[in-house]
Amino acid sequence: MSKQAERETWTEGPGPDAVFAKHLADGEFRIQRCAACARHVFYPRLACSHCGSVELDWVAPSGRATVYAVSVVSRSADKGGPYNVVLVDLAEGPRMMGRVDGTAHEAVRIGMPVTARVGKGAGGEPCVVFEADAAAGGGGSAR
Ligand SMILES: [Zn+2]
Repeated sequence: MSKQAERETWTEGPGPDAVFAKHLADGEFRIQRCAACARHVFYPRLACSHCGSVELDWVAPSGRATVYAVSVVSRSADKGGPYNVVLVDLAEGPRMMGRVDGTAHEAVRIGMPVTARVGKGAGGEPCVVFEADAAAGGGGSAR
């Protein structure tokens, strides 16, 4: 379907949450970008949170993000052990929730550069997870 046709049927078919989930199921992380004001939108919406336009296109973000906040949730070992929850600021602007994989929980820092990929949630469902950028050093000392 063309982008124009998608826009003209914006009140029909699956809602934006379902479209987001469909992309994830296909292994693709997509967010919306407003054709009217060129700003990015997340969570998925029917109308731009900045200007109200319904001309939202699904685009692939760069994946670059910065940790804005982090908390470690305690959980018993038989349930999988502790896990982290982060808020990250995507390079495109939106802030979103997720988790950082591949880094010790206590080593996840505010301001840490991370990269998004599609991973698995607690129930095996696809979700967006983040990994520390290699350049940021995963424990190595930067002199
Ligand atoms: Zn807009």
